[in-house]
Amino acid sequence: MVGQAQAVKALKAAAAKPVHAYLLVGPAGTGKMDAALAFAAMLVCPNGGEDGCETCRRALEGLHPDVVVFEREGAALSMDQALEATRLAARSPLESNRTVVVLPDLHLARDTVPALLKTIEEPPASTVFLALAEFVPPELVTIASRCVRVEFRPLTEEQLIGALVAEGVPPQRAAPIAALAGGRLDRARLLANDPGTEARRRAWEEVPARLDGTGATAALLAQELLEHLKRSAEPLTARQEAEVALLAEQNARQLAAVPSRVAQSAARTGVQELGARHKREQRRQRTDELRTGLAVLARAYRDRVVAGALPGQHGAEAVGLIDGLSADLVFNAGEQLALQALLVRLDRLA
Ligand SMILES: [Zn+2]
Repeated sequence: MVGQAQAVKALKAAAAKPVHAYLLVGPAGTGKMDAALAFAAMLVCPNGGEDGCETCRRALEGLHPDVVVFEREGAALSMDQALEATRLAARSPLESNRTVVVLPDLHLARDTVPALLKTIEEPPASTVFLALAEFVPPELVTIASRCVRVEFRPLTEEQLIGALVAEGVPPQRAAPIAALAGGRLDRARLLANDPGTEARRRAWEEVPARLDGTGATAALLAQELLEHLKRSAEPLTARQEAEVALLAEQNARQLAAVPSRVAQSAARTGVQELGARHKREQRRQRTDELRTGLAVLARAYRDRVVAGALPGQHGAEAVGLIDGLSADLVFNAGEQLALQALLVRLDRLA
């Protein structure tokens, strides 16, 4: 874990005598899931974790039967998943002394929150809930009040640079990437592996200078930016293709060793789950990349105000419009129209 000393300390202290529910709150990419799985490993390990035993290893990889992770299948946790979480929470542990139910992305749950609330309030003594959320929307306030809250903070640029350099990224490349990564180590790693990072940053930065008062230019720029956006998915796609190939190889080896219907069905489920995770990652990468671009654009307007090229009030309005779109992206998939409309409005400001 990089840069989350307080959260790690709190969870380590809690592992000896856990309460029934924890809420890990903080922006995406700050290590909440890694921390949740490490905490779960400490809860199910016969030796209290951190001994690298078989139980710990399986818990950390998400393969322990008493550590159940409910990744959402669609835009949010479904009612079926919420009911299944409730059912599993009531179940006795299979191998260890505890059942750990991990609920990621709970800030998106909304309609399913009431179904979860009762279980989170009164789970069996052997069950521990680990809810993960990027922030606490009004729907989650009641659940949050029933959980011990652990905060995850965005990483500082220094922490990001330190982590990237430790992983072999040259310092002169690590610094600009850390500035783009929005406090997130997962983003910083992805950007560091992407040769197109700098060109994309420049494309967003040049938007204010290129807008010329015509709708045609705004449409062209939106199209160019979305082309960059599409290409930005390439490193992730390459990594995912490698994962698919690796899983196929593992499955083939296992089926050759133990050819059975059960093994075949398990292999199919594994492939489906990997596919679902990859779709989530792609959606998230797209939103992240668009947010990164919008942040560069907002900074470009601020810089123009500082340089005296734009009146302060226009700059503030521009940044307000850009931030508004960025906040909307959590629930909104209609990027292209939204982006084009933004550019037209920015253009009218100037
Ligand atoms: Zn262990």
